[in-house]
Amino acid sequence: MALAYIGLGSNLDQPVAQIRRALEAFAGHQGARLLKASRLYRSPPMGPKDQPDYINAVALIDTPMQALELLHALQGIERKLGRVRLRHWGERLIDLDLLMYADVCMHSDELTLPHPGIPERAFVLRPLADLNPDLIIPGLAPLAELLAARADDTCTVVEDGA
Ligand code: ADP
Ligand code: MG
Repeated sequence: MALAYIGLGSNLDQPVAQIRRALEAFAGHQGARLLKASRLYRSPPMGPKDQPDYINAVALIDTPMQALELLHALQGIERKLGRVRLRHWGERLIDLDLLMYADVCMHSDELTLPHPGIPERAFVLRPLADLNPDLIIPGLAPLAELLAARADDTCTVVEDGA
């Protein structure tokens, strides 16, 4: 079994509900066990600005799957939940990123671990801190250091699914 952190994001069609659906999909997936989920966070879009705010969260799962197998399972859940790719960094119903898989560091055409976006994304760093404030991102830095560098970013907790 390996521990993995999954980043969830949505900005279409009731994003809070989409994140909850995705968490339920892990809970119901035979290849993964949902151990913990962070609070939900709201932040402005990273790419094109003419799109709604994003809701993000991070889940900690444990899984017997290998990293690439897990990535494919995440892509399967995205498809099942109805994700359609529109434009790069554009609006999406659900995005599931494999942030970390055990302490694996790797780079291939299909999969980079840890996910290269982690250091500059407050909407990943803050939910990660909910789950484990003492985390060290494999091959990178302590989470606390990365968080301090993004302290000014807009990214707020969504209170009770509002
Ligand atoms: P993004 O999440 O960057 O907006 P996509 O979800 O469309 O974009 O993913 C683009 C590609 O990123 C996927 O085809 C996948 O193979 C690749 N990728 C590389 N590393 C990872 C990772 N750690 N987690 C998720 N996707 C990854
Ligand atoms: Mg993605």
